[in-house]
Amino acid sequence: MDIILPFLLDNGFSRGVYINADETIADILKHHAYPKAVEQVLADTVILTFALSANLKYNGTFSLNIKGDGPVKSVFVSATHDFQARGYAVFDEEKLPEGTLSNTALFGNAQLLFSIAQPGQEPYQGIIMLTKETLEETVSDYFKQSEQIKTNLVLRRQNLSRRCLLIQQMPLKPDQDLEEAADLWETETVLLESVRDAELFDASLSPNDILYRLFHANGVTVFEAKHPTFFCPCHRSKMEKYLKSLSPEERDSLFIDGKITAECQFCGNQFIFNKEDF
Ligand SMILES: [Zn+2]
Repeated sequence: MDIILPFLLDNGFSRGVYINADETIADILKHHAYPKAVEQVLADTVILTFALSANLKYNGTFSLNIKGDGPVKSVFVSATHDFQARGYAVFDEEKLPEGTLSNTALFGNAQLLFSIAQPGQEPYQGIIMLTKETLEETVSDYFKQSEQIKTNLVLRRQNLSRRCLLIQQMPLKPDQDLEEAADLWETETVLLESVRDAELFDASLSPNDILYRLFHANGVTVFEAKHPTFFCPCHRSKMEKYLKSLSPEERDSLFIDGKITAECQFCGNQFIFNKEDF
């Protein structure tokens, strides 16, 4: 079962999250038949979506969208606050490079847009330029530049499996010694980066085992696990509402052989409408 496991280090000096979303990734991918290179970046985007949203308090949808002018034009993943995720990609198959996860090779000039949409509120949006060659370096660099919340993450890959560990420094207590805080953060970062793929992908080790091995010297407190899943909330009625919102002329132009076939780009579900539906 997939797992998002929040934890605290050093009595709340920092918080973190461990993520294994292999089943969700596999479920998202099986609704498409994408080439390997596209599956790889979609898998990366899914786990980063969870990593960046796991510690946020929101009630709605968090999404990541990589947009570029390279062979992969767009990768879009969204997840609800209870970690139901879906995603798709748009790409030019003929131009796809083989065996590389280089951002430049795949996306060209690109940016990573993130947004939080909550009912009744203006969406919150941000942009990260893809200046580094991997997505995790890009995100780490963004956090380093912005300096608002000290954040470090590791993202590791094995075929289409992904593991991610992210730590984030909490606001300092008023009596916290700054030098001590810097040392503590440095130690946590070194420990985080010391994690080996052999541990992360060892099926006999639980996430708790891995966190304990890495951070036991600093006192690690683990919270209740959450379980991400694939879910696509597309529905015939939503598509119908959209089609009914079009002008009769616009709608008529969509009919082919007397019907409109609307396909969900996330899951491939097809909804067929006839003239009588309107
Ligand atoms: Zn769907």
